[in-house]
Amino acid sequence: MKKAYIISTGTELLLGSTIDSNSVFLGKKLEDIGIRVVGKIIVGDNRDQIARAFKLGFESADLVIASGGLGPTKDDLTKEIACQVMGVKLEIVEEEVRRLQDFFARRRRTMPESNIKQAMFPPESVVLRNPLGTAPGMYLSKDGKVAVLLPGPPREMENMYINEVEPLLKKEFQLETRKAVSRIIKVLGPGESQAEEMLEDVIDDPRGCSLALLAVDGEVHIKVTAEGRDINDSQRILERVTEKIKDKMSDNVIGYDRENLSSAVAKLLMNKGKIVAVAESCTGGLLAKLITDLPGSSRYFWGSITSYSNEAKKILLDVKEETLARYGAVSKETAAQMAQALIHRYGVDIGLATTGIAGPDGGTAEKPVGLVYIALADNNCCNVKELHFTGNRETVRLLTAKTALDLLRRHLISGGKD
Ligand code: ATP
Repeated sequence: MKKAYIISTGTELLLGSTIDSNSVFLGKKLEDIGIRVVGKIIVGDNRDQIARAFKLGFESADLVIASGGLGPTKDDLTKEIACQVMGVKLEIVEEEVRRLQDFFARRRRTMPESNIKQAMFPPESVVLRNPLGTAPGMYLSKDGKVAVLLPGPPREMENMYINEVEPLLKKEFQLETRKAVSRIIKVLGPGESQAEEMLEDVIDDPRGCSLALLAVDGEVHIKVTAEGRDINDSQRILERVTEKIKDKMSDNVIGYDRENLSSAVAKLLMNKGKIVAVAESCTGGLLAKLITDLPGSSRYFWGSITSYSNEAKKILLDVKEETLARYGAVSKETAAQMAQALIHRYGVDIGLATTGIAGPDGGTAEKPVGLVYIALADNNCCNVKELHFTGNRETVRLLTAKTALDLLRRHLISGGKD
């Protein structure tokens, strides 16, 4: 696998006033075409630091891809330094001078002298078009190493990468004929280390593939990359390993690649022709948001009642005054009545309810922050689960909403025998 090193230049990135989103975009895109990113660095507009970054990049990788510092001002140094490190000279390219002059003439402005440096390139390089700005990019392949220089503004950088750079990289590294295939298997239930233990046999005997585990918002994403003799062989290995992982993870698997919890639940609800409604207290509408993130959800989603106050719980969901007085709003009993009202009063097939203490205030010794009840009711039963989450308000709410969706998913898979 070819290796890449990413450099983001710009003092504003170091100061934190701009987030380095360019390297995130590039990392993902390079991975997509089978180039492994082995490192990345942010450097300010400083000659020595930029030079060090390029040297480090070429020591570690086949490709160094940098963004920023291609403008006309004194602190735009990337091209000059990259060429020094690669041992090539910058020369004026007449066609680029004309292009710049045209650009300024169209705007009725004279071209500042300093802009001429945007028309200077080594003769062995490819000048990369920038239809969205003035700074062209540069692609240079020399002695088995490739340098790619892209402008800083994300829109210009992304456009140039997609239209100009990716085709050149595919040709340079013959990536069309690449043999590796990969898939992400998403699981919910076990934590990262528990998932690792469950997959011990697969991890110990990978035969032609590599596995990487990543914890994402309460889920574990298992990335399987298979590399066989050819693409068909890789595909066979990938299927074999996927089957093994599915076996070990059983109902914990929520989906593959672009699938997520909401799409898994949507598929099950539509297959079974069921309509769900939600009654939300501590999640404040987040559960409904997750469900409606998918277009077309009105086919299986009735809607949500955000019953945050006790009054709303009583008026909209028939939660009894005495239940609230005796057990409190955050209780098994209240959660159950909220979910049951969706079935009995509103007539849906499945009712899902959340109530809990998201924090940071409101916790007691008996009912600490993070205590959550999730109820699931249908015409036959009503199950309530007590959970204890840790983390800030946002985390507790997200984990509650996802766990509620997961309970629904498992209920639909088991046919209600949970
Ligand atoms: P220009 O000629 O447009 O100035 P340039 O190549 O010189 O292009 P910079 O001056 O380094 O680019 O950056 C231009 C703008 O792009 C910055 O103000 C910054 O907001 C944004 N930018 C630069 N690098 C990044 C990055 N890594 N991630 C996100 N935004 C970035």
